[in-house]
Amino acid sequence: MPSDPTARWRVPEGARLTLAKIDPRAADDAPGDKAATKAASDTLRAELVELQARLYAESRQSLLVVLQAMDTGGKDGAIRNVFSGVNPQGVTVTSFKRPTEEELAHDFLWRVHRAAPEQGRIAVFNRSHYEDVLVVKVHGLAPPEVIQGRYEHIRGFEASLAAAGTRIVKLYLHISEEEQAARLQSRLDDPAKHWKFEAGDLEERKRWPDYQQAFQDALRATSTARAPWYVIPADRKWYRDWAVLTILTRALRDMDPRFPPPADGLEDVVIR
Ligand code: ATP
Ligand code: MG
Repeated sequence: MPSDPTARWRVPEGARLTLAKIDPRAADDAPGDKAATKAASDTLRAELVELQARLYAESRQSLLVVLQAMDTGGKDGAIRNVFSGVNPQGVTVTSFKRPTEEELAHDFLWRVHRAAPEQGRIAVFNRSHYEDVLVVKVHGLAPPEVIQGRYEHIRGFEASLAAAGTRIVKLYLHISEEEQAARLQSRLDDPAKHWKFEAGDLEERKRWPDYQQAFQDALRATSTARAPWYVIPADRKWYRDWAVLTILTRALRDMDPRFPPPADGLEDVVIR
């Protein structure tokens, strides 16, 4: 019987999380081997599609999924594998790149708030406001006291979204340094992946320990009851996808979206 990855990988509020103690290859609580786990993921995906249809019809609450990872951590793959089959009208995916001039001329939450989900929708953030306490911290693009203040601003921002009916699930896809090497190499070797390779990725890779520290600090400071972080072991893509699907379907089940009842007086109408 698989355990509950929702509880296992959740970062408790105020926890002394140590990322180095979490094995990126962990898969011991998967429902079975790779094939069996993929089959379990198919079942979960079908449930996700059903729950999303209800969420969309109900149009009263929304779900925000924040995805963060080291380069090559699998954000794109997780989005593709988890959300395939979901009604595209009900899901928005926003990728946060280096800020534009206009974005830099505003507070760091401005571009993010605009992309937050409206009622009935699922919004997926491929990178997010967390870049402003990750890459910005690692590269010293803002002074330490500014970054320190941002943890609190993020907590307040997420609390206000939650109070307005947005469920928030934050996923850190946790890969090992060795796995990143292999994935970067395949971006060099595989013609279908060349476009994903950026020379800058190698420079960033040299800062691996700084990034791990920045992630650890950010996850500790911002995992709250209403906007929890989950650390997903992500070296094995099939485990990663199953864990993400498990966490998201549980969140949606708990939100319990319902198809609205028929309007008054329509119960017995028969169209001829
Ligand atoms: P892939 O993982 O497939 O390469 P990606 O998410 O890395 O996709 P890129 O266009 O390669 O997409 O990279 C986006 C870059 O923008 C990242 O290096 C990220 O750190 C950077 N970035 C995002 N937000 C900010 C920010 N607020 N300040 C500075 N840099 C940022
Ligand atoms: Mg990149």
